[in-house]
Amino acid sequence: MDHQSAAELFSSFVDGDLGATEKSDLEHHLAICIQCRTELEEFRRAVGGLGRLKHAAPDSFLPQIQEQIFLRSRGRFFGRRWKLFGRIPFEWVSLAMIIAMLVYYILHLRGAPTGVQPVP
Ligand SMILES: [Zn+2]
Repeated sequence: MDHQSAAELFSSFVDGDLGATEKSDLEHHLAICIQCRTELEEFRRAVGGLGRLKHAAPDSFLPQIQEQIFLRSRGRFFGRRWKLFGRIPFEWVSLAMIIAMLVYYILHLRGAPTGVQPVP
């Protein structure tokens, strides 16, 4: 058994879902391979950490964090925004500027002479 196929069996091994042959093959490889023993230990640690995350955060978690940041930053972050101009996306501002420049071009510059006039 090589490292790759050993690593693929870690999940089933930890869950106890391996067949007898695969289990003894893996155990044999683990007995002679310190690299895979280390990886299995890291895998167990990661899975154990995930297993402790059983509960999702309550709905009030994020607003409370934002309020704490707002208070501790003395209003610099997560403050109330001005309704009309607080949340205009940058793309809309860019589009409005492009349209404004196009209108200016059409109204003021389109009829202007661009060629070089010969000196009489
Ligand atoms: Zn190995």
